[in-house]
Amino acid sequence: MHVLVTGGAGFIGGHLAEAFLEDGHDVTVLDNFEPFYAEGIKRHTLEVHREVAADGDVEYRFVEGDVRDPETVREVVDDADVVVHQAAQAGVRESVDNPQRVTDINVDGTVNLLEASKETDVDRVILASSSSVYGKPRSLPYEEDHPTEPVSPYGVTKVTQEHMARVYTELHGLPTVCLRYFTVYGPRMRPNMAISNFVSRCLNEEPPVIYGDGEQTRDFTYVDDVVDANRTLLTDDSVDGEVLNIGSSDNISIQELAEVVRDQLAPELEIEYESAREADAEHTHASVEKANETIGYEPSRTITEGVGEFIEWYEANREWYEPLVRSS
Ligand code: NAD
Repeated sequence: MHVLVTGGAGFIGGHLAEAFLEDGHDVTVLDNFEPFYAEGIKRHTLEVHREVAADGDVEYRFVEGDVRDPETVREVVDDADVVVHQAAQAGVRESVDNPQRVTDINVDGTVNLLEASKETDVDRVILASSSSVYGKPRSLPYEEDHPTEPVSPYGVTKVTQEHMARVYTELHGLPTVCLRYFTVYGPRMRPNMAISNFVSRCLNEEPPVIYGDGEQTRDFTYVDDVVDANRTLLTDDSVDGEVLNIGSSDNISIQELAEVVRDQLAPELEIEYESAREADAEHTHASVEKANETIGYEPSRTITEGVGEFIEWYEANREWYEPLVRSS
């Protein structure tokens, strides 16, 4: 199979491309090195891809280009059996500051990709959506039919993307499936997220900083689980046209998370607090029942296990990763 991974130099797309290469698929990565955080992390990911491809004797191509550019997108979609769309401007706060740019990338970029895909005979487009589509919890854990009332421009772009995908399925018969990821973490994770931040600060004997009172809760998902869901969907057409939550169902408060990291790395440090950041969701908690029943999805780790693994990875990769985290 030939898989196109958009945003494949990024955190999640990087892991997806790596896994698909390991599974023996040919992979094209499209990424424009959007300057959201240190480019060095993405360059490192591309090196990993090249090594895995060379070991497995599979074809790997990296195309530096923009999902908003119709010609580039048509060219890379043309060869693909499945398109796995991760390219986006992630991050809620960025979307508050730059709503126009985030909409351009996340909505126009997606439409561009769907347009190109409908012209070819790709088997399926799998799109990265987000728990941010839910916004205000009426009931928790979120089931997929919970109302979507995003509280950030980012969440709005992700709901729009989901509707676009559904409309392309209904109007043009293009198989699509949207995966609502719940805060993903793991090796090579984006530096501007709570877990990498807490780990980096504690290892450097700086107090972890919580924005708000720490009572907000998150459902943290280990990146391997996101990979497994996407891997299944390369060949499984049972949920075409639908959305699925991909989370851990093991939600904890940011206070507890900071304590888990602090207690393991620097128990003497006092946690510090700064004012809450606007447009952050108060609580996220995934029901993964639908994903379990349809594609056999099962989260593999508790947050404590996953954070422990991330810390081990961080310490082993500290020399190259930490300067990039701290410069982002
Ligand atoms: P990331 O920023 O690490 O990866 C996104 C990649 O897309 C980057 O490498 C970036 O350079 C690329 N990109 C951005 N704009 C582009 C454009 N116009 N053309 C081509 N490439 C472009 O983010 P991530 O955490 O890996 O997120 C991947 C996807 O998962 C995104 O769609 C994000 O919205 C979604 N998501 C992530 C999380 C999470 O917790 N990480 C949670 C929910 C949803």
